[in-house]
Amino acid sequence: MARKVLVFAEVRENELRNVSFEALAAAKDIAAGGEVIGVVAGESVSGLAETLFHYGADRVITVENEKLKAYTNDGYSQAYLQVIDSVQPDAILMGHTAQGKDISPKLASKLSSGLISDATGIEIDGEDVIFTRPIYSGKAFEKKKVKEGLIFATIRPNNISVLEKDESRSGEVVNEDVEIKDLRTIVKEVVRKSTSGVDLSEAKVIVAGGRGVKSSEGFEPLNELAEVLGAAVGASRGACDADYCDYSLQIGQTGKVVTPDLYIACGISGAIQHLAGMSNSKVIVAINKDPEANIFNVADYGIVGDLFEVVPMLTEEFKKVLQ
Ligand code: FAD
Repeated sequence: MARKVLVFAEVRENELRNVSFEALAAAKDIAAGGEVIGVVAGESVSGLAETLFHYGADRVITVENEKLKAYTNDGYSQAYLQVIDSVQPDAILMGHTAQGKDISPKLASKLSSGLISDATGIEIDGEDVIFTRPIYSGKAFEKKKVKEGLIFATIRPNNISVLEKDESRSGEVVNEDVEIKDLRTIVKEVVRKSTSGVDLSEAKVIVAGGRGVKSSEGFEPLNELAEVLGAAVGASRGACDADYCDYSLQIGQTGKVVTPDLYIACGISGAIQHLAGMSNSKVIVAINKDPEANIFNVADYGIVGDLFEVVPMLTEEFKKVLQ
C-alpha cells in the first residue's frame, strides 16, 4: 500500500539535525512507493530544502514565519497542524528529540491519533508497519503496529541508517503560508549549555565521566579524549549531583538516552538508572578501578585501572592514528 508520509525535520543553529535524515529513511520504507514529504519550519529555512531531497524527500514544504524563529510548542504546533491539514498524510514521523517529545503528544491529541514514541526500528510486513521501541528503561523491547488510521511515530536518534546522500535528487519546494496566532511563549534567548560542540543525543562517540572523575577539573582528560575522537562529553548523575558538570550532560533514566557507536564510561559504577540511558550503545568501553563494578557487565571492553592514567594514554594513542 503506497502511503503519503510527512517528515517534520528539525533545525538547530541553521542546520538540519541528523535524526531528520534518519526519519526520511524510515519514511521511505513506510511510504512503500508512495510520497515522502519533508517539512522544514523556521524564520528562514528555504536554503535547507535541497538537503532534504538529497536524503530521500520527494517533495519539500517550507514553513517560513517570523514567529517560528525559535521553537515554541505553541507556534510550531499551530504551523504543523496546518501543514497536516493541507497534506492529509497517512503517516507522520519526527525525531524523538527534546522538540519531538514536546510537540508530538500535543499533535497526536489534536489529531485524535495514537503515537508510537521512541521507535528504534521499523519493519515492513506486507501492509503492516511494525515499530520496535524500548520499554522498562531499555531492558526489553516491544513491537507495535497501528491497526488503522494515522501512523504517527517519533524516531530515536542514531538507530535508523540514513540513506546514502544523493546530490542529484531534487524536487518541488512549496512554501506553506500558515497563520500563527499570538504566541503565549516568547523565547528571548537560547543559551547552549553543553561544553562540547557535539550534540550528546546524536553523537556517534561519547566519553562519559562519573563520580570517579572526582572534580570538575577531573573532566579535563575526558574533554581532551573527546576532542581527539570528535566525541561529545556526557556524565552520570553522580557526577552532576557532585557539581562536577552541568545537568545537561546527564545520561540515564532521568537524563538523556543515547545510542552512540562508541560509549566510553570513565569512573562510572553502572547503576541501573545510568544503564537505562546508554546500554543500547553499539560498543561500550568501561574504565573503572573496581573490577567488580557493574558497568563491566554491560561493557564490550573493560579496562580495570585509574582513569587518570588510562584516559591520557588512550588520548595519546588515538592522536597517533587520528591526527
Ligand atoms: P558511583 O556509583 O559513586 O561510582 C563511581 C565509580 O567510579 C565507582 O565504580 C569507582 O570504582 C569508580 N572510580 C573512582 N575513582 C576512579 C578512578 N580514579 N579511576 C577509575 N574509576 C574510578 N544516575 C545516572 O547516571 N543517570 C540517571 O539518569 C539517573 N537517574 C536516577 C533516577 C532515580 C530515581 C534514582 C534514585 C537514581 C538515579 N541515578 C541516575 C543515580 C544512580 O542510582 C547512581 O547513583 C549514579 O548513576 C552513580 O553515579 P556514578 O556511577 O558516577 O557514581
